[in-house]
Amino acid sequence: MQREFSLKVKLIVSFWLVLVFSLAVPSNYFIQSVEQKVDSQHLQYVQERMEIVQWIIAQEEEKKPEKLDSILKSLDFLDDARVSVLDAQGMIIADSRQPREEFEGMSSYIDYPEVVQARHETGYHTASDPWEDDRRLYMATRIDLSSEQEDTGYLRLVTPFSGLHPYFQHVSANLWKFVLLSLFLSCIVVYLMVTYLTFRLKPMIKMAQSIGQGNFQQRIQDSPGREFDPLVEAINRMAEDVEKSMELVSSQKSDLETIVNGIKDGLAALDNQGRIISCNQSFKKIFQHLDTINGKKPVEIFFNNSLQAACEEVLGNSMKQTRTMELEIKEKFYDVHVVSPSDQQNIGAIILLHDITDLKNLESIRKDFVANASHELRTPLTSIKGYTETMLQHPDIMQEKGTELLQVVIKNTDNMIRLLDDILQLSRIESTQDQVALDDVDLAAVIFKSWNNCSHYTEGKNIVFESELEQEGQLLVRGEAEYLGQVFQNLFENSIKFVPGEGFIQVLVRQEGNQVWVGVQDNGPGIPAAEQQRIFERFYRVKKDKKKVKGTGLGLAICKNIIKAFGGRIWVESPVPGNDSGCIVWFSLNRS
Ligand code: ADP
Repeated sequence: MQREFSLKVKLIVSFWLVLVFSLAVPSNYFIQSVEQKVDSQHLQYVQERMEIVQWIIAQEEEKKPEKLDSILKSLDFLDDARVSVLDAQGMIIADSRQPREEFEGMSSYIDYPEVVQARHETGYHTASDPWEDDRRLYMATRIDLSSEQEDTGYLRLVTPFSGLHPYFQHVSANLWKFVLLSLFLSCIVVYLMVTYLTFRLKPMIKMAQSIGQGNFQQRIQDSPGREFDPLVEAINRMAEDVEKSMELVSSQKSDLETIVNGIKDGLAALDNQGRIISCNQSFKKIFQHLDTINGKKPVEIFFNNSLQAACEEVLGNSMKQTRTMELEIKEKFYDVHVVSPSDQQNIGAIILLHDITDLKNLESIRKDFVANASHELRTPLTSIKGYTETMLQHPDIMQEKGTELLQVVIKNTDNMIRLLDDILQLSRIESTQDQVALDDVDLAAVIFKSWNNCSHYTEGKNIVFESELEQEGQLLVRGEAEYLGQVFQNLFENSIKFVPGEGFIQVLVRQEGNQVWVGVQDNGPGIPAAEQQRIFERFYRVKKDKKKVKGTGLGLAICKNIIKAFGGRIWVESPVPGNDSGCIVWFSLNRS
């Protein structure tokens, strides 16, 4: 930036120019014109005296040098003027002051400017006298020195001509002193004015600076002067407008942040160099193990070259485009989209992470389910097919073992029906999980009703059933009576299957804060610790029991889903504390 002169310098120079033009120039002009006027009057006065002398000489008939000399010396009106009569060669022949013997040997004045000029008209000029330190007027005119008018001479006059000149010089010198003093004073006035102005402008400058630093609430209260009112008003209005705009921008920004942070998908923006400049909460959550995300390249946080390549492709290609891929990050699966934003100068690309872990799990559950269900159905169907084919191919066998074979067919058919019932039950609870209407349920009533429904399974076994909750209406829990009955029935059926001939099944009830923990304990063999986590999976059956004990592997999965719908959880404890066998299947329920 070209550096300009300061306001002080500009003002001082302006003042000086004004002073010089308004003071010095006119005064100088005035002095000179007055001096000229005085000079011309003086000149006229001298000329008149010379004409008088000329006239006196002209009256003299005999113009002899001695005569002329005595006439000149007799003239008393000449004051301080010296008058000489020169002959045609410019030699003095008569003089008003000098004695004759002094000027007789003097040199000629013929080449003196006033004499040269006098050949045509009255000549004069002024010059400083180096000896007298004064100005003198030299005047000459032609005169006739003979009666026949043949002999021409000159009348020459020398007189001090300083007049008012020294006075004017004195006035002029004083005037310049006065001008110089005014210039000096103007400097002081300008300095004080600018200092005062700067002092008055300081709040305005401070305020403008503070607006620049983001303090938009500031306003100028005092105006430095009336001339600054429009400026003060404009700055205050500007601050107000900027404040409003900033409020709007920040509210829009916070709205946008709320929206972006509310999105469940991870979202990160890359700049044109491919570095992350911003990301939402979901994205931060996915990479919460990292200290920083901003400023890093995608490969530094995803550790995936294909994603980095996709980002670079999107960044490098001006055509709007999207790259999609599937990535596994910390045991979760994501659909990753790299999108080129439209009409954005600062953002080069956007990375979008959509969590598809549930979808993937469901997909694998669906596949497992189909495989398991087909397998479980195939076994009884193969058996039914085998037995019926045998009966068809060997009709004679029907006589001997027909009933036995048909009973096997019926047993397998029952297995299939039970399996399908369980599948239907599971699918029913899964589809209505969120909409199960919870109610206050009498826990003891459900326990006893469920045990009664299972009593026919106990045939052939001597089972003692006990419940810690004996009185109906004693404890109410949040749930749904029919679904809760199914949970108890499944658990009772499992226990009945596994208890030995002399069985013992007990319902345990613990009150834990707002919850009730209910356990179904039996004196069966228990469940191996390694498989306890897996028995709640669909179709999972403990390996050692698969062949020996009937079942579909769906009972506990159904229980888990029902308890989950009630807002509780289910777990297993085996062996029973203080024993080396038996198991307790626990589940929690909310109290009414
Ligand atoms: P199933 O219909 O086969 O009983 P469940 O899901 O109810 O299927 O049970 C899964 C597996 O857990 C069973 O195959 C069984 O081996 C084991 N199990 C369940 N309850 C008990 C229990 N009370 N005692 C021992 N093992 C049990």
